[in-house]
Amino acid sequence: MSTPRKLAAGNWKMNGTAAELSEVKTLLAEQAAPGCDVLLCPPATLIHRMAQAAEGSILKVGGQDCHARQSGAHTGDISAAMLKDAGASHVILGHSERRADHGESDEDVRAKAEAALAAGLVAVICVGETLEQRESGATLDIVAAQLGGSIPDDVSAGTLVVAYEPVWAIGTGKVPETAQIAEVHDFIRARLSSRFGEAGQGVALLYGGSVKPSNAAEIFAVENVNGALVGGASLKAADFGAIVAALSDA
Ligand code: PEP
Repeated sequence: MSTPRKLAAGNWKMNGTAAELSEVKTLLAEQAAPGCDVLLCPPATLIHRMAQAAEGSILKVGGQDCHARQSGAHTGDISAAMLKDAGASHVILGHSERRADHGESDEDVRAKAEAALAAGLVAVICVGETLEQRESGATLDIVAAQLGGSIPDDVSAGTLVVAYEPVWAIGTGKVPETAQIAEVHDFIRARLSSRFGEAGQGVALLYGGSVKPSNAAEIFAVENVNGALVGGASLKAADFGAIVAALSDA
């Protein structure tokens, strides 16, 4: 059975200018993370500079979105090949903020993921239910539909990461109970294993939604949680470093 590699991933969202690269320097100065990968996804404007700062270190750099096409008349968009060219190794796709703000469907996310794989990027595909969906008992159906619709057929453990991010936990300080995280992560693992066999067992499953230094160890102790996708707490080296350390120790 293939064991997923642990991954601590940070999503800076629309935060950060060159001045904030100092946080990366602090993180790198203090960070050794035996047994886990570390990824930061800054705004596109910082990818190249962050990748240069991270060269030769444990830190990988990723994008927060890409277009499904390789090039063309798509003003303001960035292709997967461009992210790769700037120094990215990963790209977050289908984040709930993109699904909500830009109306991205599962089909759109799948097309973007296909483009990412073709460009040699690891696709970090996000799924998760809204509060209304959870309260109506639809969580697993929603997650199943997002997994089925968003993930391409030709992925492997090395090219796919899945992040379970309940929308109601993102940026709210609310975190599901560990039993709720376990239920969804076990479900995602079973779905991936039944669709992709051995490869599905090796895909890293991240939990995302208000992960902080104070709750990281408890979340990482949950079976089938192989890391975290961290928003707010990834902006400060001290916080993100503590989360990386908790994952390394888990
Ligand atoms: C996110 O946006 O992916 C996220 C998990 O944000 P936060 O950690 O701030 O809840």
